Amino acid sequence: MEGDALSIRPGNGVEVLGREVTCRFDPHRISSTGLNCISHAHSDHLPRGFEGEKAIASRVTLRCASERLGRKLHEETSPHVQMLEAGHIRGSRMFLLDGGSKVLYTGDMCPEDRFGMRGAKPVKADALIIESTYGSRGWDFPPREEIGAVIKDWVEDNLAQDFSVALMTYPLGKSQLLLDFLGELEPYLVDNVLCSTQWVEEEGEERFRYRAVPEGAVNAPSLYICSTAARKGAVLQRLQKGKLRTAYISGWALRRGFFNHMRVDEGFPLSDHAGHDELLSFVKGCDPNIVYTNHGFDEDLASDITRELGIEAKALKSLKKKEGAKGSQKKLAEF
Ligand SMILES: [Zn+2]
Ligand SMILES: [Zn+2]
Repeated sequence: MEGDALSIRPGNGVEVLGREVTCRFDPHRISSTGLNCISHAHSDHLPRGFEGEKAIASRVTLRCASERLGRKLHEETSPHVQMLEAGHIRGSRMFLLDGGSKVLYTGDMCPEDRFGMRGAKPVKADALIIESTYGSRGWDFPPREEIGAVIKDWVEDNLAQDFSVALMTYPLGKSQLLLDFLGELEPYLVDNVLCSTQWVEEEGEERFRYRAVPEGAVNAPSLYICSTAARKGAVLQRLQKGKLRTAYISGWALRRGFFNHMRVDEGFPLSDHAGHDELLSFVKGCDPNIVYTNHGFDEDLASDITRELGIEAKALKSLKKKEGAKGSQKKLAEF
């Protein structure tokens, strides 16, 4: 940021350096100095190295991160950092840093209220660091609760035809979203979907309806929620010997050829990220002086923000020195 006390750069996560405060958003390494903020507990946002053990994050994120990393993280707070609902998954937060000027870091976010979750609401900021996973024109999603109704119909139709159904998706986030509207079908939660759901319940207010997979065979057609990794696991292997329909649930299901690629019977584009137009209206609502886009279609979104909103915008990675840039961005398929 020019003319400000704060500077923003990609480094150990996204670093914001000021006279009073040093802040790292989704750092790769928890530092022993400054503030470490973790937006949510998806693996691409979690630290890999530890010089300290304190982080600013929601209780759900701290618990899920600690369990996934096998290392206890402790809660930290700061008068400079405010946590705001990011609407991406249970426990996800945006961070508003006040260090003279205000910087909003969204992490992954979704602005739509849905399935018992509040969406991310824009707040006034001087600088905005926004995710851009679906930041390219054309990546816009139908209302998410409508997709939920379509998924539920599809599941019920298959169960009525004596098929068991396996919905494949992310154990943390999407699985709890599905439970909000499929709970009455008492789905079986497979492996890490079960433990992720229990961590969310133990740290939050919500209770979901589900069953653990029993040791013996389940004969009646039933609904299962699992990760794609469970495809090779014992539960799915057993189901595949009988009548089974599979579906993958992800925003990427908007893309043609997705089914073949994922080897499933159906794909549903239910996304926990903002679509392209949602990103633009979020930026407009924050009314920043400058925007840095991060992840996915970062350059596309930056140029659309500048052209359509008249706000200076650039891909965050463009701030990185050439020699450090190699290998810093994750491939799209990993999100
Ligand atoms: Zn995420
Ligand atoms: Zn992410």
